[in-house]
Amino acid sequence: MPTPTLSPHDEMNVYASAEARFEIAARKLGLEDGVYRFMRYPNKEITVYIPITLDNGRLEVFIGYRVHHSLVRGPCKGGIRFAPNVTLDEIRALASEMTWKCAVVNIPFGGAKGGIICDPGKLSRGELERITRRYTAELIEWFGPERDVPAPDLGTNEQVMAWIMDTYSMHARRTTTAVVTGKPIEMGGSQGRHSATGRGLLIVCDKAMAKFGKRRGDARVIVQGFGNVGSAAASLMHAAGYKVVGIADIHGGLYDEKGFDLPAVENWVLRQHKPLPDFPGGGTPMSAQEVLFQPCDILLPAAIENQITSENVHRIQASILCEGANGPTTAYADEGLDAKGIFVIPDILANAGGVTVSYFEWVQDREGFFWRESMVNERLKDVMEHSFDEVVRYSEAHAVNNRIAAYMLAIDRVAFVLKLRGIYA
Ligand code: GLU
Repeated sequence: MPTPTLSPHDEMNVYASAEARFEIAARKLGLEDGVYRFMRYPNKEITVYIPITLDNGRLEVFIGYRVHHSLVRGPCKGGIRFAPNVTLDEIRALASEMTWKCAVVNIPFGGAKGGIICDPGKLSRGELERITRRYTAELIEWFGPERDVPAPDLGTNEQVMAWIMDTYSMHARRTTTAVVTGKPIEMGGSQGRHSATGRGLLIVCDKAMAKFGKRRGDARVIVQGFGNVGSAAASLMHAAGYKVVGIADIHGGLYDEKGFDLPAVENWVLRQHKPLPDFPGGGTPMSAQEVLFQPCDILLPAAIENQITSENVHRIQASILCEGANGPTTAYADEGLDAKGIFVIPDILANAGGVTVSYFEWVQDREGFFWRESMVNERLKDVMEHSFDEVVRYSEAHAVNNRIAAYMLAIDRVAFVLKLRGIYA
C-alpha cells in the first residue's frame, strides 16, 4: 500500500484531505491490496459542457461535473452544487465522502457528487432552469432511480430538483419521481427532508451531550452558515433549549453571549432577505471565520469546506465540534483537534441526516406511499442515534478518533459487500 499522499501544500485540497483520511482508516483496517486499490478510485467521472442562451441573447457555455465514486452497496447518491469555484477535485472528494456517509448510516447507496461552475446569485431563474435541464439531458444515461440519484447541495434547492425530475421524465417518457430527492413535497418529496440535515445535527449533538452528562440548557452553540443546513440547525437547536451565541452567513458573523432570538434572526435573513450582520437584535459583528473562535461548548460549522485548518485549530474554544458542512476541517487540523481533546462528530456522520431522509424519500417514491412527518423524524432519529453509537463504540474498540472510526466503519461495510460481490476484474 503506498504511503499517505498528503503534503503540507495540499492542506486546502479537499481531495487530498479525503484521501489522507481514507489511507489512515484503510491501514488501520489492514485492507487487502486489491480491495484497497479498487476503493481508492472513483468508478467514473464526467465533464459536461453546457451551452445555454443567456437572457441577453448571448450563448454561454458552462462546465459541469458528475462523479460516481461507488456503486458497491447500491445506486450512487449525492448532491449537485452550483458555485463559482467548483472543481473536479472537490466533486471527486465529495463523491467519495458520500460513499462513506451512506455506509456510516447504513443506507443502501454508493456515493456520487455533481457540480456546475456558475454563480446562482447572478443568474436569472430562466437561466438556472436552462442550465439545469441541459446538464440533466447530458447526463441522462448516468441518472436513474437505480443508477444515480441526485439531491440538493450548495447553491441548489427544491426547484432545481423539480427541473431535474421533469427533464429526466420527459426523456424517459414517464414520470420518474425517484430519480431525484429533495424535491418539493407536492411532487413526490418527503416530509421533513428540507430540515433533515439540521435535525440530524441536533440529534447527534443531543447524543454527545448525553454522553458527557450535560443538559441542553448548559450548552452555548455557535453555528457558522445560515443556508439550508445552518439555518435549520440553529433554529432547531434554539427551539430544543440550546443557547445559540454565535451565527454567521456569507456576509459575516455575530456573537452574543446572551444568546440570539432565532425566530427573529430567521425572519431577518430568510424572510426579509437582509444580511445577517445587520441583524438589529444585538451581537458583536465579526467575520464569518472569526465567529468560529469565540467561547462556546458546541461549534457547528455548516457553511463551506476548509474553515478549520492547522493554522487556526488552536483557537477553537468548543469541547464538541459537530460538522454540518462537508469537509469544514482539513486533514491537517485533525491532529490539533485530537491534541485539544475536542469531541468531533465528523461530517460523514453528523450531516448524514440529509441523505438519510433522501433515502426515505426514494423509498416512498418507489412505494408510492407517503409517510407523515412524525414518522420521518422518528426514523431519522433512530438511524442517527444508532449510527452515533456505532461510531463511538468503534472509536473506543479501535482506539482511534471518531473521524477515523467513522471512516473505518464505512470502509469496512463497503469492503464486506465488495468481497461478497467480487471484483469483475
Ligand atoms: N448534499 C447532501 C449531502 O452532502 C445530501 C445528499 C443526498 O441527499 O443525496 O449529504
